Amino acid sequence: MNNFHTHTWRCKHASGTVQDYVEAAKKNDMKILGMSDHTPLPDNRWSHVRMDFSELDAYEEEFKKVETDDITILKGLECEWDPIYQGFYRDNLLGERNFDFLIGAVHYIKIDNEWSYLGEIRTAKDLSQYAKILIETMRTGLFSFIAHPDGFGAGYLEWDSNAEACAIDILTAAEELSIPLEINGYGLRKPKILNLKGSRNVYPLLDFWELASKFDITAICNSDAHRPEDVDASLKECRAIADRFNIKVIDDIRK
Ligand SMILES: [Zn+2]
Ligand SMILES: [Zn+2]
Repeated sequence: MNNFHTHTWRCKHASGTVQDYVEAAKKNDMKILGMSDHTPLPDNRWSHVRMDFSELDAYEEEFKKVETDDITILKGLECEWDPIYQGFYRDNLLGERNFDFLIGAVHYIKIDNEWSYLGEIRTAKDLSQYAKILIETMRTGLFSFIAHPDGFGAGYLEWDSNAEACAIDILTAAEELSIPLEINGYGLRKPKILNLKGSRNVYPLLDFWELASKFDITAICNSDAHRPEDVDASLKECRAIADRFNIKVIDDIRK
């Protein structure tokens, strides 16, 4: 199995270089490895969890030096959404710099003009704002897939009619736009969340993926590795979730 979601030491909360990941991927017989560190932003926003903008050239340089032999390496970045970055993603990253792919990911949402983290989602209003930003991200056509679309579960603990409405909005858009949704393995390796039903993984949310089976969508299984030894972590478990709910899985993002 391949993996298209990986982070390096540059984001300040992961380890390993591009070359370290390539070696780990070769050991696991991967055919394609997508590197997707957290994108730097031109205004250095949220820089505590991403490389500084000044490091972007050096990140790119790593790909030129890497020894690939019989493995294909895709140069990518995981991107936050705010309309102000659209030009940067389109013209600079995909244009001038010729990145192979970008991941659309929402870790921050704007609630009442303040940016909040996913873990702060509490109300139906927050959920609809999350869905709105995620769908805006999808509609740009800039992203190869959407990371952890069920990430709202990091803050919204119960599965109720509000969570379901949010999921339906996301799944309806993914079907309409034919954009793959990620079953993210990192959520399986994080501490569990306690709720009224007991405990569950931060994500993937089984209720979300059960609902997804009623839509004509595709999924992609990724480890979201934050260290080279996790390059294939949780991929089998993610695939098992897709199989359980009869969801089609893609293992290559190249068009
Ligand atoms: Zn990260
Ligand atoms: Zn990630």
